Amino acid sequence: MSDQKLCEFHGESLKPMMVPLLYGTPIMNDAFKALIEARETLFPNANSHFLGGCHLGSSGPETEALVCLQCREAEEEWAESTGLPTEPDIGGFFIAG
Ligand SMILES: [Zn+2]
Repeated sequence: MSDQKLCEFHGESLKPMMVPLLYGTPIMNDAFKALIEARETLFPNANSHFLGGCHLGSSGPETEALVCLQCREAEEEWAESTGLPTEPDIGGFFIAG
């Protein structure tokens, strides 16, 4: 039994890499919506960052993710051609009251 996972888009074996965890609440603006859509359709395994939610301190600033290098390239090309960021704006924490 192999635990080798392949990118369903590129057939490339996924490589474990440390990726940054982003904490806070992503701002759901047009750029972020476009990024989510592009991730699903163009680079599903780019995994250039993870959203850590609001659980500050529950884990470190980085986490291990399985990354397809061709997806990373596709993400870079997408960012270049659209001029959009590959990370969401983080709006910080909502403060009640
Ligand atoms: Zn891929």
